[in-house]
Amino acid sequence: MKSFNELAKEIDARLDEVVGGVQRWSGRVFIESVSSLPDYYGVKRWNCDIWLRDDCTVHTLTHELLHGRSAGLAEWAYSTYRAIEEATVGDGTGD
Ligand SMILES: [Zn+2]
Repeated sequence: MKSFNELAKEIDARLDEVVGGVQRWSGRVFIESVSSLPDYYGVKRWNCDIWLRDDCTVHTLTHELLHGRSAGLAEWAYSTYRAIEEATVGDGTGD
């Protein structure tokens, strides 16, 4: 079985071909339990590490990787335009 880091790098290589842009993801993926990440299946931290819950799907990982390729995403802009950013990368629930 592939590690989440290996899977993330494969998906990101495809995103590079399809979406392009610059990837700011740190290259690190951390897996957390539901109790330590109760509100989200995944999150991209402001240091650009990706944290995923152990019950997430590949859609969540793709969603967080797309945030990494979002042009000029700054914390103030995210809080102001959160709905636009989230709609653009998809809701992360997949199906
Ligand atoms: Zn998101």
